Amino acid sequence: MEQLAGQLGGFYPHANLQPERPAFVVVMVEGQVAVAEAEHAPWWPVERLAALAGDELARVAVGYLSGSGYGEAWQLSSTQFATLAGRAELLGLRELVGRVGERDFAIVSRAAQLLAWQRQHRFCGGCGAPTAPSDSDHGLVCRPCKLTFYPRISPCIITLVHDGDHCLLGRQAAWPAGLFSTLAGFIEPGESAEQALCREVLEESGVAVAASRYYASQAWPFPSQLMLGYFARYGGGEIAVDSIELQAAEWFHYLELPRIPPATSISGQLIRAFVDARHAGQSLD
Ligand SMILES: [Zn+2]
Repeated sequence: MEQLAGQLGGFYPHANLQPERPAFVVVMVEGQVAVAEAEHAPWWPVERLAALAGDELARVAVGYLSGSGYGEAWQLSSTQFATLAGRAELLGLRELVGRVGERDFAIVSRAAQLLAWQRQHRFCGGCGAPTAPSDSDHGLVCRPCKLTFYPRISPCIITLVHDGDHCLLGRQAAWPAGLFSTLAGFIEPGESAEQALCREVLEESGVAVAASRYYASQAWPFPSQLMLGYFARYGGGEIAVDSIELQAAEWFHYLELPRIPPATSISGQLIRAFVDARHAGQSLD
């Protein structure tokens, strides 16, 4: 398994709890990640949690980390957390964006999502009976209904609409002053990603898209999105913001961009890739 982790970029998100003792543990306390000051990663060697083993409120498998081994996520109460030796702080997932590496962020976001999902699906939505962990994977089973529930992932599109040297960026009223980003939205049941892209851009900005090209994806655990990143070529229309999702949308020249998201987010990566392509005189089609 560890070898597989090496082949998969350092982390293998394995779903099943293992009989062996975990080598490392992501500690979650009331939705926040407990980060030990003495550690270089946002998880703990299990030895430091020995006094609490078996008393955790919930536990899930997170997977195998190359060079470390098998890891779990434990939900602790704030009282249990207070008994941990050494200095530690509780950080929200958003505070960890950019503060830890991409692989480590994937691990803690997986831990947070699995524990939250388990907590929120203790009963079947069909009959109300308590669910129980599956024997074969990390699903939760309702035996009367013969249904297995799995962690939810919500696919979203996120797109940079471009027209020559200009790109279309928007901002929401709640964002920090001056910050603009690429347009994004959830994919509706029955839609393809490309259809969702055309609809979202039209709804939010009034602009039509002529063609789109897939760029890359990113897991975004706020709370459980999978962001599918696209470049989209402008197809016509004038900007008319809906004032519901967006407060403003504007065309920006690639040399005169406003404040944009960091390169750790896919929106930041799309914008930087657009700028690089314009500097190189390349087309995004
Ligand atoms: Zn049921």
